[in-house]
Amino acid sequence: MPSQSKGYLTLNVGSSSIKFAVFDAPSLNRLLGGELDAIGASTVLVAKSADDGTIRHEWDSGKAPDTHAGALAFLIDWLVARLDGLQILAVGHRVVHGGLSYDRPVVVDEAIMSKLATLEPLAPLHQPHNLAGIRAAQSVFHGVAQIACFDTAFHSHQPFVKDCFALPRDLYDEGVRRYGFHGLSYEYIAHHLERDFPLHASGRVVIAHLGNGASMCAMVNGHSAASTMGFSALDGLPMGSRCGQLDPGVMLYLMQTRKMDVNAISNMLYKDSGLKGISGISNDMRTLEASDEQSARDAIEYFVYRAKRELGALAAAIEGLDAIVFTGGIGENSVMVRERILAGLGWLGVELDDRANRESQTIISSPRSRVLCLRIPTNEEHMIAQHVQTRMQT
Ligand code: ADP
Repeated sequence: MPSQSKGYLTLNVGSSSIKFAVFDAPSLNRLLGGELDAIGASTVLVAKSADDGTIRHEWDSGKAPDTHAGALAFLIDWLVARLDGLQILAVGHRVVHGGLSYDRPVVVDEAIMSKLATLEPLAPLHQPHNLAGIRAAQSVFHGVAQIACFDTAFHSHQPFVKDCFALPRDLYDEGVRRYGFHGLSYEYIAHHLERDFPLHASGRVVIAHLGNGASMCAMVNGHSAASTMGFSALDGLPMGSRCGQLDPGVMLYLMQTRKMDVNAISNMLYKDSGLKGISGISNDMRTLEASDEQSARDAIEYFVYRAKRELGALAAAIEGLDAIVFTGGIGENSVMVRERILAGLGWLGVELDDRANRESQTIISSPRSRVLCLRIPTNEEHMIAQHVQTRMQT
């Protein structure tokens, strides 16, 4: 990396992985980026430099960091050793939940950290790790601004009917509302559409962020109008190990009949459900696609079914549809999942271009399709860097 220059570091600390990137300022060209994956299992760090050279770090058996704290500490040391004189102006962090208080990026201080910690029960797979990332960066980059960028921010300021539950009103006032997540990904895609597909960007679009975590967002004129995710990151689509939409009566049943407590139910809904729960095999779509087991086929079938159903519901919510965008690990890479979702949407005027889909082109619908179908890789790290730069300039 060039010395004498300045830049930003972004950290996206998840439940089993830490994504990171270093960007040059003010160009926002990425100098280094990658992921420390499978923490606690077969941990591996893979990064790409600006010239696309791949750097891979593996550990001898039993030597890999097996806790988040260990992985974070290793990663930050590893990054610092590669900065080569580059001055980090600020560190941007993906923080999943901003609650009612934060509808834009903020420079964190102790009071803000305490407030964000109160939201941990709403996103137990993410929020504690996100905050640990901030602490780890604070301890190494002394005096450097730590900027929290929220996944909920893109969905804030929705009208009452879009973010309320039909529960006693005082719960709404207390903050029991639909928040929606994956906002940094949606915002990135919204900018991409504005640049490359301005006509559609100003219309009605559903973005399907299908990854380990999965949700859909309906946008009108570039703004979030509805999301499949709600109060926590459990609602909507089934995910790798999260259940998605669930009749609350099931939870009452689990408590009353199986005598399960909060922790047991929370573990089941966050960690043992979704693709993993249905298949009994894996939370990973690649593994399921490669499996001959009926339970793996059932899991994919349910994922596709719910995706079609939620897409139809979102199209109804925004009274029409001009474009669908697929993004996230599954949305970007699974030809089969895209094909099966779109094959069921002929009634909306969707017509797939099989070859374009197989080749994972950007436009995957035929020229006759009334709804433009796109595949656009997301880049949450870049969105965070953009927010950090804007925040530092104001
Ligand atoms: P996260 O929510 O953790 O950021 P990702 O967006 O990285 O998740 O998506 C991970 C998911 O993408 C996994 O289910 C993985 O199997 C799936 N995936 C990645 N590549 C492919 C592929 N080539 N075919 C099918 N699924 C894929």
